[in-house]
Amino acid sequence: VSATSAARIEAVYDEILRRNPGEPEFHQAVREVLESLAPVLDARPDLADARVVERIVEPERQFIFRVPWTDDEGEIHVNRGFRIEFNSALGPYKGGLRFHPSVTLGTVKFLGFEQIFKNALTGLNMGGGKGGSDFDPHGRSDFEVMRFAQSFMTELHRHLGADIDVPAGDIGVGAREIGYMFGQYRRITRRWEAGVLTGKGLDWGGSAGRTEATGYGNVVFTAEMLKMRGEDLDGQQVVVSGSGNVAIYSIEKAQALGATVVTISDSGGYVYDDRGIDVELLKQVKEQERGRVSDYADRRGSSATFVKDGSVWDVPADIALPSATQNELDTDAARTLIRNGVKAVSEGANMPTTPGAVRLFQEAGVSFGPGKAANAGGVATSGLEMQQNAGREKWTFEQVEGELTRIMESIHQTCYETAEHYGVPGDYVFGANVAGFERVADAMVAQGVI
Ligand code: GLU
Repeated sequence: VSATSAARIEAVYDEILRRNPGEPEFHQAVREVLESLAPVLDARPDLADARVVERIVEPERQFIFRVPWTDDEGEIHVNRGFRIEFNSALGPYKGGLRFHPSVTLGTVKFLGFEQIFKNALTGLNMGGGKGGSDFDPHGRSDFEVMRFAQSFMTELHRHLGADIDVPAGDIGVGAREIGYMFGQYRRITRRWEAGVLTGKGLDWGGSAGRTEATGYGNVVFTAEMLKMRGEDLDGQQVVVSGSGNVAIYSIEKAQALGATVVTISDSGGYVYDDRGIDVELLKQVKEQERGRVSDYADRRGSSATFVKDGSVWDVPADIALPSATQNELDTDAARTLIRNGVKAVSEGANMPTTPGAVRLFQEAGVSFGPGKAANAGGVATSGLEMQQNAGREKWTFEQVEGELTRIMESIHQTCYETAEHYGVPGDYVFGANVAGFERVADAMVAQGVI
């Protein structure tokens, strides 16, 4: 790497720190991508001259808004809403909405930034965006969630459109919330505009396979990484963190391919189930009853134990799929997993592994799949939902799953080949960052200084 390129990258990072004070997650996400880009600036003077790195780290547009709502007792609450329209070089802004008390501007910015590269890797035409609120849906009634979602959409709707900005779900936003928001959008705009949100119900414009897509996709990516090591999922012991949509469908797919998944978790602790997680029971507890993993353990019988406040990373495994939230797997956890012989780690969540932990895995020869590649199946299938909406079509589950599998295999191959091309074979972090960046950067250069 030349001194000029290295200095350019450092200068961009300094500017990020200066312009975005108090947003450590955004700094972390940018740093992680920038660390891959110096060799690209050396190899591609056209991108360097066009100042693409300087431009790509600045969101095109950011909205922050008040979300007032009334609870079932008639008390008024105020939350804060966000939408970051980060980059639209490849298509309409695309990315989920997260409803969680920890959400800040910095959270949404980090997620929006990652989304740019993730969406580019899918090969579909989607820009990058993200939104959310610090609203806590936990313990709220359906009507409370509805009134919040309606208020959120009352402000957000003016920024959306099938060719403008297309949100979906993320943590705390599933089919129920998408339904309430779609209803409010339709009412305010008097448009039945299917393509304005993805993750819709199957009877009103949703795509088969969207619910399963992120988890299934991550397992396909994991299987591809294992294939490069001459292995497959059959007979492997897997630890999964989280118990939401991504976790549930990662477990379903991994077990369908012959693995045994022995853990799930939530903020209260984790469950170890030595017979392998019973996915149907987990769906019942989480999707129907909105319960906790401790409820799963209570119902499962003797094979499952609930460990309060423990960490799933203490459980020995061949494969780890962090599928809960950012920075949930740190250097201590990485050391434990490595000591216990982990072979592959693939991120179902966004940025769940701390930078130090990623480094430890790579140094130890563990295959590491970064979220922007490994969990891209969710947004890729959102892209397929948009295609179906635009064509007023409805594809079968098999068609969608076939496309999803093809896209995930192609993402794996692109990351692998990009890393190899730049002389860092097996480094999927580098491959994902650079392949995603190059696709967006080429589009930005072609479209002029905007
Ligand atoms: N929230 C998901 C992600 O992190 C999906 C976004 C979408 O489907 O637009 O990629």
